[in-house]
Amino acid sequence: MKNIILTGDRPTGKLHIGHYVGSLRRRVELQNSGKFDKIYIMIADAQALTDNFDNPDKVRANITEVALDYLACGIDPNKSTIFVQSHVAELTELTFYYMNLVTLARLERNPTVKTEIKQKGFDSSLPMGFLTYPVSQTADITAFKANTVPVGEDQLPMLEQAREIVRSFNNLYGETLVEPKAVLPENKSCLRLPGTDGMAKMSKSLGNCIYLSDSADEIKRKVMGMYTDPNHIQVSDPGNTSDNPTFIYLDAFATDEHFAKYLPDYACLAEFKAHYERGGLGDMKVKKFLNSVMQETLEPIRLRREEFAKDIPAVWEMLYQGSKSARRVANKTLWQVKRAMKIDYFAEVKKHIKQKKNYDYFSNRK
Ligand code: ATP
Ligand code: MG
Repeated sequence: MKNIILTGDRPTGKLHIGHYVGSLRRRVELQNSGKFDKIYIMIADAQALTDNFDNPDKVRANITEVALDYLACGIDPNKSTIFVQSHVAELTELTFYYMNLVTLARLERNPTVKTEIKQKGFDSSLPMGFLTYPVSQTADITAFKANTVPVGEDQLPMLEQAREIVRSFNNLYGETLVEPKAVLPENKSCLRLPGTDGMAKMSKSLGNCIYLSDSADEIKRKVMGMYTDPNHIQVSDPGNTSDNPTFIYLDAFATDEHFAKYLPDYACLAEFKAHYERGGLGDMKVKKFLNSVMQETLEPIRLRREEFAKDIPAVWEMLYQGSKSARRVANKTLWQVKRAMKIDYFAEVKKHIKQKKNYDYFSNRK
């Protein structure tokens, strides 16, 4: 079996450091590991429209932003195929067939979708497209026969749904689709990076993000204004590091080299945490160090992004070529699916036409 990756992001905003540690950083490592036969990275505009159908301008503008974020982080179009979901019409067709294999009750049980419905206030006005987006995600993954999907923790229910659909399809129609597995970040703090406001998840839709494209000043302002442990009032108070986003970000980004460079009184994060927990370490010092770490990490990404942003038409041409090549692959899978489902009615006719033979359709007629 081939080793194939499919991942993607919704063009609902620029990408943030949660995307970076949850998925992007890993994708670049996997891309450069040489262990994969193919890597597909999808900008999920059709999925973004399921909850932004009234704002197509936002989705369109953010396709450019997400593509720039990819290039800035080191996704290389010569090694990975970057494409736009809506340009691959086969994905919509596959979704339609897969819908038969899922019940409404099953879709309503999806915990990530449930949380998102609440967050978006969709209780009484839930678009069908939004509820069914896990099915369309299954189409995205299976169209490319992907076996590996590097994602953040919130995507686990989607992967479970995809595996169920694949199993049910293969049982009904014969072995056709590949069962995918999720690859989560190894570092626990990166599974679901919290927002700067302390909310459980940094998310474009919640406005609690540090973006990969933020200026040095914006990064500093956001870090200095971050939520910390609300019970750590005096410097001398013992503090909590486990529910404290400043320490969670340090877990995700800080290395011993950062300590040697910016805070040589501590050898490593464990020592720094121990000091905060026993009391005597102020939030200001933690935030100043975190700011240095974030500035060092994000500066090269921001500079590369600025370079790529100088030629936007080239970015769109790259997306066009990627989308064309993705479409060819998805089309092959779609026909395998149709054959398995016995709905490839015109296969014989097409063969005849190709051989320039015509059926003598109406020879019995007078
Ligand atoms: P939206 O609010 O529009 O859903 P989002 O910020 O959740 O946007 P997505 O495009 O839905 O971003 O997610 C893209 C990928 O990034 C997924 O693999 C997801 O698991 C991962 N991801 C998103 N936010 C985080 C986070 N805070 N921590 C870790 N991974 C994340
Ligand atoms: Mg999301």
